Amino acid sequence: MRADPIPTELAARVRLVIFDVDGVLTDAGVYVGEDSDGRTVELKRFDIQDGIGIKMLGWAGLQVAIVSGRVSEATAIRARELGIEACYQEPDAHKLVVVERLLEERGIEWEEVAMIGDDIPDLAVMRRVGLRAAVGNATAPMVAVADWQATRSGGHGAAREFCDALLSARGVLDEVVERYVEERSRT
Ligand SMILES: [Mg+2]
Repeated sequence: MRADPIPTELAARVRLVIFDVDGVLTDAGVYVGEDSDGRTVELKRFDIQDGIGIKMLGWAGLQVAIVSGRVSEATAIRARELGIEACYQEPDAHKLVVVERLLEERGIEWEEVAMIGDDIPDLAVMRRVGLRAAVGNATAPMVAVADWQATRSGGHGAAREFCDALLSARGVLDEVVERYVEERSRT
């Protein structure tokens, strides 16, 4: 099954794309344990194809931010790996304040923001942005506000599907892929 295309007029004005973490970049599961010194260890599983999609947004000139409602070192490590400086982890999901500050710092309007989320911790921000995306297994209140919904679930390709759909709606997907392959075809 393929998701519907993202409406062109919504995609065209996007300058910043915000990703939730748990349930969007992961399947919402968290592995919790202890190391040999009794310190808590928390692991998450991220999808490599999602990561490439996020990189593609950057290559297409879009800004990317991660806004999580939980604090986790695993998230910080993954953001660093993807080269995302704007990684905010807000305890108890107080996401709106950091996003407001980010937009002000960067001179970006709410209509120029896209966000993909999975559950009600995303709603306060989601209601304000110009392009609202939900993962395939998003909860009902998220689906109700979404302009677009992935067919795939969080942590299992939903974020990549969104990146591809956004770039496709902006008419640059093929160009971004070709540029990437061409650079790697040089010997
Ligand atoms: Mg979430």
